[in-house]
Amino acid sequence: MNNSYLRAALLAALLLCLPGLAQAGHSSSGHGGHAKSSAPKHSSPKAQKHAAPAADAHAAPASHGAEAAVGPSPEAVLLELIEGNRRFVKGRSLHPRMDLQRILETSSGQHPKVSIVSCADSRVPVELLLDQGIGDVFTVRVAGNVCDTDEIGTVEYGVEHLGTPLLVVMGHTSCGAVKAVCTGAEVGGSIPLLVDNIGPAVERAHEHSGLSGEALVPLAVEENVWQSIHDLLAHSAITAELVHSGKLKIVGAIYDISSGEVQWLGSHPDEEALVSARLRGHADSHEDSHSEKQHASAHSHAASNTDAASGIVSASGKQAARADKARPAGRPH
Ligand SMILES: [Zn+2]
Repeated sequence: MNNSYLRAALLAALLLCLPGLAQAGHSSSGHGGHAKSSAPKHSSPKAQKHAAPAADAHAAPASHGAEAAVGPSPEAVLLELIEGNRRFVKGRSLHPRMDLQRILETSSGQHPKVSIVSCADSRVPVELLLDQGIGDVFTVRVAGNVCDTDEIGTVEYGVEHLGTPLLVVMGHTSCGAVKAVCTGAEVGGSIPLLVDNIGPAVERAHEHSGLSGEALVPLAVEENVWQSIHDLLAHSAITAELVHSGKLKIVGAIYDISSGEVQWLGSHPDEEALVSARLRGHADSHEDSHSEKQHASAHSHAASNTDAASGIVSASGKQAARADKARPAGRPH
């Protein structure tokens, strides 16, 4: 795997140094490289919605802004990811679309099949664990796979501008960010402003189970996946509209760092209500709780499971630091 990445990096560097190579039409057999699709760009939306899962669902480019191109269905993409993870777990990864031909194909534009929000943890290499290639995955990696302003904006770019039909929010076992909140670990710098997004999930997991500390982590990891989807739908009218119109499917997932296996969780249990609320113009109480945080602290304890709801970490610093970044909530689209 490392060799593949190294080769890709070297080839990318070579292309930067030798731009003429990009016009040379050079192709590499590689392993699993895909030829560019000649799929029609303007098939009907109905055809897109009812497209059967294809063996090469990647081949058709996704929609790009106002150019309504037809790509794979959310279900077809999800099936590809499930199959890719199965190959990875069995040690039979194909490392598709990692060759020079793919680099050349994607140099003029990206048409990823899926947007993924996952953790920055070094043990969660998204493309590898799903056996996907260059240009396949539009990825947001942030500690604790949280969805705050920057992450939501990035997701919106992926699902709306790049038109990925599927969004996966992927937590993982033994997540350090979630663990820090569960155990009330002392964290400094800007970390309190990051992990405050995890607090409500930890509180819920505690309420449901009565567990605390490290024993709470597995449940909190799952709750945190739902929290991120909740925060995204609560603050992104763009995303809510795409889900409402059937153009986007959002699923949760948990990656097991000890087995390599992805557990697919499906849609948020309250997705319909969240989408409806957002489309009616209501951000939820989570946003209100953000706006009410008044006391900045650059050095704080991460939320414990008993005080998570009350603003575990003071976050006025976040507000100050992000004063120039208005939340997308309520923005017409
Ligand atoms: Zn993590």
